[in-house]
Amino acid sequence: MESAADLRVADLIDTNGEWDELALTTHFVEEDARLIREIPLSKRQPEDVMYWWPATNGVYSTKSGYWMGRLGHIRGWQDRFGGDNGDIWRAIWNLGGPPKLHHFVWRACTGALATRGRLMDRHIIEDGTCPHCNAGKETIVHTIFRCPLVKSIWESSPFLCYVAEGPGESFMALFAWLRSKLDANGLLEVMALAWGAWSYRNSVVHLEPWQNIDVGVAGFQRLVMDYRTYANAVHRSPPFGGVISRASWIPPGVGRFKLNTDVAMLEEGSVGMGAVVR
Ligand SMILES: [Zn+2]
Repeated sequence: MESAADLRVADLIDTNGEWDELALTTHFVEEDARLIREIPLSKRQPEDVMYWWPATNGVYSTKSGYWMGRLGHIRGWQDRFGGDNGDIWRAIWNLGGPPKLHHFVWRACTGALATRGRLMDRHIIEDGTCPHCNAGKETIVHTIFRCPLVKSIWESSPFLCYVAEGPGESFMALFAWLRSKLDANGLLEVMALAWGAWSYRNSVVHLEPWQNIDVGVAGFQRLVMDYRTYANAVHRSPPFGGVISRASWIPPGVGRFKLNTDVAMLEEGSVGMGAVVR
């Protein structure tokens, strides 16, 4: 898998100057892809300009440079969004599973999921009541763990007592609490279910509810667990004879499919394999 760390905005724009649908769906969760699609692209395609992100006006100042130099990039983000929660951020990045899952958990922890409760907190709407149960504010914790809309997800999992007992004041507080109660596997599974619950809720909000909630959520679990198996296999493969391919993936023509595969042989004799058809 190519690293998304080298991805540039230009990689998300096709030759016609439009957002590249395949690139968006490959690298982003649907909600973010939708937000990106809504960003209008200039037809004139002007030159890029330098923008210094730590400063709100985009202009470099020695003060912001000092701050950046002292805290570093990652610490800078943590400081902005997390204060003293460096521990939590490390836990998110070390969660295992695909980067899209980390991104979802990170957004849930920073309150960056657009529930009605969050929109009310930000004075965007006046009524933050949950439209699915009308039983209180649609907070992120309510939406993902406690709303009757997603109840069956948790009831059919071994984690019901955990998500029901844990603190409800914020997703981050609940995440920290779950982390103290569950092992790494359990935490990853709960976050996979949480991701599925949030996606199911969005399918209802966008009036395209999943046909079968259990099958839909199982898909998220499988995605997360398969990724872990694959990543472990690749990570643990002995570093001999490997050549890193510089070739980049090119979409197949209309009416054709491409099959990409990768195999890793482990020292103890087992084999890990991954394949994707697009
Ligand atoms: Zn509700």
